[in-house]
Amino acid sequence: SLSIEGLRLSYGDMEVLRGIDLEVPKNSVTCVIGPSGSGKSTLLRSLNRLVEMNAGKVLLDGSDIRNMKPETLRARVGMVFQHFNLFPDHTARENIMLSLTKIKGMSLDEARNIADARLADVGLQGRGDHRPVNLSGGQQQRVAIARALAMDPEVVLFDEVTSALDPELVKGVLNLMAELGRRGMTMVVVTHEMGFARQVADQIVFMDEGKIVESGTPDEMFNAPKTDRLKKFFAEVL
Ligand code: ATP
Ligand code: MG
Repeated sequence: SLSIEGLRLSYGDMEVLRGIDLEVPKNSVTCVIGPSGSGKSTLLRSLNRLVEMNAGKVLLDGSDIRNMKPETLRARVGMVFQHFNLFPDHTARENIMLSLTKIKGMSLDEARNIADARLADVGLQGRGDHRPVNLSGGQQQRVAIARALAMDPEVVLFDEVTSALDPELVKGVLNLMAELGRRGMTMVVVTHEMGFARQVADQIVFMDEGKIVESGTPDEMFNAPKTDRLKKFFAEVL
């Protein structure tokens, strides 16, 4: 599980996270929603130290993430981005194998077997030899998800992973993520897909101006929002 306490983070003199407290239980899906600029991406990035917090702490299964080597942390907390971030000169299989050989020190054979198994898990069996340019956006995003899963992480962070996809490809990726949730993957998902949040989340967190304004189950949030800010947000996005 992830336990976030009093997390604060500034860019220069602008405080972007202003005291975040959040529990992400094991085997649960947490969806983070909120307006543009509210700090959702910064929160995710702070959880695997792509940006460093200024105050507060984050515990991963009880251990302070600041006491972990960044590579160790990023193997335990995987991340999938909006723009896939695949290496264009490597095949799908090689993209997955790289972190297995480099960070986990696996042999090429072992890494290849895991890469092919994870590609099959995301419905891309037979596509291992394709370079990103020869895959659709949805397929590229599946490769990025397979790459995160291959590390056998305890938590996976998803930042707007369907926002850059053509509309007809969004559903397939959301279905894959829902399936991962059903299989018990611990996930923190920043999303504008309210249908996904409503159907898949165990808890939903609404952020505004660097704070968690309201959180609860999908039923609580969608059927009985408490704050005016959340009501206003739903009025704009639903
Ligand atoms: P969106 O929904 O548009 O992705 P977000 O909720 O993910 O928004 P963040 O990207 O976390 O928001 O940004 C929070 C605030 O921090 C914004 O005001 C943004 O301009 C600022 N910000 C983000 N990254 C940086 C950076 N590297 N340097 C300075 N300011 C930044
Ligand atoms: Mg963002």
